Amino acid sequence: MTLLAAICFAAAQIDLAGDWRLSGTDEKGSAVECAAAVPGDVHSALLRANLIPDPFWGCNETNVQWIGFHDWIRQRKGAQESAIASMELCVKNGLEVVSNTQVNRKNVHTMMPTARLLNDIGVRGMRIIRTTEAPRWEENAANSCLSLEEYYQAMLDFAVEYSKSGMMMEVETWQYIGLLPKLQSYYLKPVKFASSERMDKGYCCNCTHSMVAVTSDGEIVPCNQMSGYFLKNGISMGNLHQAPLRDLLGDGAFVKSANMTVDDLGNSECGTCEHLGYCGGGCRALGLLYSGRRELTGLTCKDVTKCRFFEDGWYQRIVQSLPGWTNLSEVGA
Ligand code: SF4
Ligand code: SF4
Repeated sequence: MTLLAAICFAAAQIDLAGDWRLSGTDEKGSAVECAAAVPGDVHSALLRANLIPDPFWGCNETNVQWIGFHDWIRQRKGAQESAIASMELCVKNGLEVVSNTQVNRKNVHTMMPTARLLNDIGVRGMRIIRTTEAPRWEENAANSCLSLEEYYQAMLDFAVEYSKSGMMMEVETWQYIGLLPKLQSYYLKPVKFASSERMDKGYCCNCTHSMVAVTSDGEIVPCNQMSGYFLKNGISMGNLHQAPLRDLLGDGAFVKSANMTVDDLGNSECGTCEHLGYCGGGCRALGLLYSGRRELTGLTCKDVTKCRFFEDGWYQRIVQSLPGWTNLSEVGA
């Protein structure tokens, strides 16, 4: 379980010191574990453990770029208790707390007890994220990632149980259901435009339209989740080592992808889809992940997580499973 609590400025303190460990894999995929002082960062911990050369010496910096493309876990005994204590402290001092919880094959059965724990603390919202949200994770997750079907079913079971539990905390599950118990309502993430709200000029992804992600070697990418894809396939949308951001944002591939609208998908795989009006074409990163495309034109490919949602009847299953709750994402299907 990973819990991220808001930073608390209250007078009381929670001691974060202790025997922190860093774990991950090196550039060849072998397991790495070492001490990780707090405060501190991944590079310093690896350097102190003699696992990398000094990045500030000679051309070493180029030899340690791989670190930015690996996932790292920092943990210590009692970290979970500290996270819970920090949330309690924030709530007690009137701060709103929202938690992120990663769900995978090994911890899926703990989601309801976790929800109860957070609800009892007074957390405002819980977000449950499928561990495959970033394309690189699936490759490195040692078979822990839930398949899409497993995830949809597990989160539907969770939503049904949660809707009957009497808990009042808001819950949002990645790309799937949002539960608003105080309003006895729910919304569906794959439905971007409910009913007749079709917006052909709406952006495919509001996030990529309003942010620039930068990789550890200066490449600009539409969102962090896509960074591994572009690197792996030798695709460049511009590099901050070669041109200032102002120039890179002036025109070209990055701006084209960031400004992509539902209308632009007219000539793509989504163009003839009967669900396009309310799906909006889905997430570009997931579209790339599942398409296996190797060039920029892959940005206009369909997002199969959405296709599966609509085509396999998950919309209808959810509606039938939550009677008495109002569907805020009605599409008249
Ligand atoms: S093809 Fe898939 S991603 Fe595209 S609009 Fe249809 S359901 Fe959405
Ligand atoms: S493209 Fe997908 S992963 Fe990237 S910001 Fe948009 S919705 Fe998120």
